[in-house]
Amino acid sequence: MTRGKRAGRQRPAVPQRRCVGCRVVKPQPELLRLVAEAGEVVPGRQKPGRGCWLCREERCARVAHKSGQIVRALKGKAAGPDLDRLLGWVKGASLDGDGDSGLKS
Ligand SMILES: [Zn+2]
Repeated sequence: MTRGKRAGRQRPAVPQRRCVGCRVVKPQPELLRLVAEAGEVVPGRQKPGRGCWLCREERCARVAHKSGQIVRALKGKAAGPDLDRLLGWVKGASLDGDGDSGLKS
């Protein structure tokens, strides 16, 4: 019987995305999503519109920032973010689109 062979093969259920910094394709949950919103780059996993993906790593943030890959990936719809803000996002501050709690209420 060779039926059991397939059991060990798992198709990845997670979408894969390419980091604009290092250009490595990774599972979506490991990446930070950046979108163009009102001419600015903002983090937001659930936001609509043109987005790009970045590893949550300082090195990738720096590369993507320096090379202008974020602006390019967003088709020029937004000015590049400040490096400091970008680094803050990749380090884990206010991810996943509900980081604007301070603006409401
Ligand atoms: Zn990367």
